This record gives sequence, C-alpha cells and structure tokens, in this order.
Amino acid sequence: MTPFDDARRLHALSELRILDSGVESAYEDLVALACQLTRAPVAFVTLADRDRLWFKACQGLVMNEVPVESSLCHLAILTPRQPFIVEDLRSDPRVAHLAVAPGMERMRAYLGVPLLAPLGIALGTLCVLDDRVRRFETDQIESLQRLARQITLLLQQRETLNRLEELDINFSAFMNNGPFVAYIKDRDWHYSYVNEPCLQQLGLTRDDILGKDDFTLWPEAAPRLREMDEQVMRELKPSRQIERLVTPDGRHFFWQSYKFPLATRHGIALAGLSVDVTEHIEQQHLLEASQRQLLDMMKAAEQRSVTDALTGLYNRRAFDLHLAEQLQRAEEGTRPLSMLLIDVDHFKAYNDAYGHPVGDAALQDIARLLLQSCRDGDASFRYGGEEFAILLPGADGVAAQQVAERCRLVVAQHPWSRRPITLSLGVATHQPGMTAYDLTEAADQALYAAKAAGRNRVAG
Ligand code: GH3
Ligand code: MG
Ligand code: MG
Repeated sequence: MTPFDDARRLHALSELRILDSGVESAYEDLVALACQLTRAPVAFVTLADRDRLWFKACQGLVMNEVPVESSLCHLAILTPRQPFIVEDLRSDPRVAHLAVAPGMERMRAYLGVPLLAPLGIALGTLCVLDDRVRRFETDQIESLQRLARQITLLLQQRETLNRLEELDINFSAFMNNGPFVAYIKDRDWHYSYVNEPCLQQLGLTRDDILGKDDFTLWPEAAPRLREMDEQVMRELKPSRQIERLVTPDGRHFFWQSYKFPLATRHGIALAGLSVDVTEHIEQQHLLEASQRQLLDMMKAAEQRSVTDALTGLYNRRAFDLHLAEQLQRAEEGTRPLSMLLIDVDHFKAYNDAYGHPVGDAALQDIARLLLQSCRDGDASFRYGGEEFAILLPGADGVAAQQVAERCRLVVAQHPWSRRPITLSLGVATHQPGMTAYDLTEAADQALYAAKAAGRNRVAG
C-alpha cells in the first residue's frame, strides 16, 4: 500500500463519519446474507482505519476492532479489484506474519471482497471466515462480490446524506442568522417555509404560520400582498415593493420585499426576501407630514398676507400686486383693464349713529354684495377703511360702467336694517402708457366727481 493511497482512504473514511458509528440493520442484513450464500459461519463488514480494523457489522462472531497487525482485511484491500482468498490461514505464507486476532483463534479460511469508494479506493471489506480449511466456489465468491457492491452503494448513500446534512446546516445557518426575513409560499399561497427572523419579527411560531395564507394571517394587508404575489407568478419575474403588514396582535410593519418564482420539487413556488424598513418609513411619513403641515402653514400665512381680516376680500397689498400684473398684460395689448374705486357714502355718520360694530357688519355686507356683482376673473379689494376697489380684466369703459352701476344698485337696493347705504363709484379704463398710479389716480378723480355730483352714483 502506498502512503498516497493510505491518506486518501483515511480521508474518505473520515468524510463518511462511519468509524465507531452505531449498528445499522442494512449492514447486519448483508452480513447475514453473506454467511448464507457462502455457507460460512462468520461474516463481517470491516473498515480499515490507520492502526486498527474496525467492524461495522458482524455475523457469527461479535467483534469491535482488532489491531492492524492482525488484520487480514488490510491485506485484502491492497488488491482492491480482486477478492482476497486464504484457504488455510495457518499454512498460507501471505498471512504468516500476522498475529492472530483475539477471538479469531479458531478461524481457518478467509474470503474478503474490498469495499470500493468512488475513485476505486478500498475502504475495508465484506469478508467471511470459516473455522475449517476450505475452498470457496466461484458462485460463492461472485455472491459476496454482489453483496459488497450493495455495501458500496450504502456507503455512497451515507456520503450523499452527509453532504445534504451539511448543506442543510449551512442553509439554515445562513437563513436564520441574517437580518432578512425569508419565506416560501406554495401554489395555493400557503406558507411552506419561513425563517427564524420572520417568526421573531412577527411574534409567531412555525405552527402559527406554516400551511396558512395571508388572508388567514393578516386579512387587512392580504389583498395587496396577493396582488404582488400574483403578478410575480403570472409574469414569472422578480418584483420589488414596500409592503405593509398588520400582525394578529395589531402591530404593523413595513417590509421592503423582493419576491421571485422558485422552482421546487412540487412545481414553481413563490419565494420572498424582506427587510424590515418600518423605522425608516415611519420617519419618512413623519417628515412628509411635517412638510405638509409647514406647507399648509405657509399657504395660510400667504393667504393672510393678502386678505383683509374683516371682509375676507383681498387687501391693499394684494391690490398693488394684482394691479401691477394686470397692467402688464394690458400694456402688452392682450386685453383691456378697468378699475372701480368705491367709497361708502356718509359712513362716518353711519358709524356715529349705530356704533363701530354695526359699521363693521355693514362693511362685511357691502363686501359680499360687491363680490356677488362681479365675474369670476374680477378681483375685489378692500382698498381702505370704507373704500373698495375692483379690477376688471377684459372690461372696457362701457363694460366697467355697467359693472359699477350694478354694484351701486345692489347696495342701494339692499334691505338695510338701520338705514339705506349707498356707494359712490369712480371708473377708469387703462389707456396705453398708463402707470398703476395713473390708473388709480384717474379712478380716484372719477370717484371724487361722483361724490361732488351728489353721491350714490357712478362717474368716469
Ligand atoms: P363721504 O360720503 O364723504 O365718504 O363721507 P364719509 O363719512 O364716508 O367719509 P369720511 O372719510 O369722513 O369717513 C370715513 C368713515 O369710515 C370714517 C370711519 O368712521 C369709517 N370707517 C373707516 N374704516 C372703518 C372700519 O373699519 N369700520 C367701521 N365701522 N368704520 C370705518
Ligand atoms: Mg372714504
Ligand atoms: Mg365715505
């Protein structure tokens, strides 16, 4: 035996993890058969360790191990492709140097067939012994060789199982110690696998979840989850999405989920890997909510800055802004622009007679009536104390006169509870080259004229 062979055999044996393993009925059956087929009283499955021969299965004699110095099998495996036959152990020179193993003193004949691992390395033997000198018939030798092949298959199976077990251990370690949640759903959408982090996060046991579907587990979130699952299985393409899950005990999670079709023994299943992003999403939601709040506050502040608190009309600041904008358009010649300046007649006397709060209420009513008399595109302003302005984009002089008259009438005819209230109105229409000041001044002049002409009238 070369040292090279020796190392390979010892390595193969250690990979098999078979030395010093327990009794296995498959091997026991085969040694019993070996005795029957060769008509020998003793049979063994042996494995050749470095310093000893170890017995995996015994028939006729119970052995555990013998030292290499008394091992017939170590000799047998030197010719891995051939049976090793000794018809008389006491007279055969090939075995004369061996010490007799304790317990085997009475044995006289030996037939050993090497057990071959892949690559043809002999690991041990299937052997039979007899307590009389004898020949072994060809069919007996062949039977033993057949049985030896069965044992080789058993050894190969053991190796495969070992590998699978190792793979399984690696897979489980990987699945259960990572930061991600993993699960597999079968074709009926029932969970068939979940990893440890999944259970921990949901606070559920395997029994709680395996064999159930999303509709049973979390009915609220289920329709959306199913939608994504169905898409993956329909298109047989991976998909990514943020999912919201509500557990039976009312906690909710956001999962960044990556789902993909997975070929299994039972057909194509749906596999999912998810990472918990609850904290991240909640922070994002908080941020978005405060951004919205801020935006609302800014809009309200902006609105307030252009609104008159008493009447709800635009204020003087807004008037300046609107006028500048409308004037530019008028200057560009796209459409005409007219302005009404409106002053409440004898309002000081009204205030004096009924008090300031009643005056305020009247100003509010006037504002409402003016608004009702305008079109959508027109803008009404509280220009000063009891003065209002209306900008009429698109209105030429004639149209503006008509609006002014309508305003005057609606206020004059309003059934005021204390006494009638009237307005004086000045109308001005933009002419090319006019500034904001010019147009306002023209309307003011007209208003002054209306006052001078006796009030409750339109001038311009
Ligand atoms: P005229 O016909 O010439 O316009 O007479 P008038 O009394 O309306 O004119 P004047 O400018 O002398 O007085 C305006 C009055 O408007 C003075 C003030 O009492 C009243 N006024 C101005 N702002 C407010 C307000 O916010 N609330 C109330 N209640 N009255 C206001
Ligand atoms: Mg006034
Ligand atoms: Mg007045």
